[in-house]
Amino acid sequence: MSQPTRKQQFESLFPKEPSFRFKQIQKGLFSDAESWKDLTSLPAQMRESLEAIPWMSVRKEQVLISGNGDTHKALLMVEGEKEIETVLMKNPRGSWTICVSSQIGCAMRCGFCATGKMGLTRSLIADEIIDQYRFWQEYLTAHPELSQHISNIVFMGMGEPLANYENVRETLNTILEYTDIGRTRMTVSTVGVLPRLEQILTDDQWPHVRLAVSLHSAVASTRKQIVPTSYDEFLPKLEAWCHAYLEKFGNRRHHLTFEYVMLKGVNDTPLHAQALAKFVKRIGKVRVNLIPYNLTGVEFECSTPKAIEAFVKHLKSNGVTTTTRKTMGDDIAAACGQLIVLKKQ
Ligand code: SF4
Repeated sequence: MSQPTRKQQFESLFPKEPSFRFKQIQKGLFSDAESWKDLTSLPAQMRESLEAIPWMSVRKEQVLISGNGDTHKALLMVEGEKEIETVLMKNPRGSWTICVSSQIGCAMRCGFCATGKMGLTRSLIADEIIDQYRFWQEYLTAHPELSQHISNIVFMGMGEPLANYENVRETLNTILEYTDIGRTRMTVSTVGVLPRLEQILTDDQWPHVRLAVSLHSAVASTRKQIVPTSYDEFLPKLEAWCHAYLEKFGNRRHHLTFEYVMLKGVNDTPLHAQALAKFVKRIGKVRVNLIPYNLTGVEFECSTPKAIEAFVKHLKSNGVTTTTRKTMGDDIAAACGQLIVLKKQ
């Protein structure tokens, strides 16, 4: 059983309070207040009693900063003395993108991923995901020399966000309500949990943020090699889902992204490029984001720059919108596929 949420703790302390009180509290959590004492819109006695509830559900253990200062990675403790990681990255607009974790470890076992090697300990509750944002907000306040604005959130840290659907949905709705981050600045990255993707199609409570599906190959056997937990017939099922999604929600600002980690000799051959271009062209409004692989001491290697260049060329010549992700924070193991609890000695 998971630990009580902030709301449950509040309701057990104040069972008779009207519902607007908790909204007031939520608003205070996203303000520049540093503790319950600072929430002066609440009655003094209530502020005192709130001391029984932790102000933050995460606790800083360590922050590492990349050599160029563009990436900060925090190791945080959550309930049960478990460790998670979250990352703050400078984006091209000069503000920050944060990458949050949604689970402690991950059950999906993607072959290239350090977190996948840990297995799953538990899913995070929404407070613990939200508090990764609040942690970085407090961190920036304590570092006035840094840009103060967090403009984007990506769910690409530890865990599979759609395997923790309700808590991720609650986090998205809370961040949308209490911050200035809009839907197109939030990206949920999934390995492709088909039942949850189906749920999104009809869920009125799911806010239509950007979705990125970690495809990694449009060749079924290669995809299974990279993502062993892939569903049977994953590719045709994903294709059908993409059509349904784009028919319902696709517009100029709303597209789907396929993430594709480039693995030497595994998914980067001309045959794989052809299969990917064909797959994308059958779907339509999809962008491909190629991710140069960051070594994590597991069995794969990054594709050569020449192979990546040829891959991009093939996709672009077939009309596929393609970007190649800039690797950030690899000197502090904060890059894609590197999030695992590893303390720098
Ligand atoms: S890549 Fe993502 S889904 Fe796959 S094992 Fe790693 S954290 Fe889990």
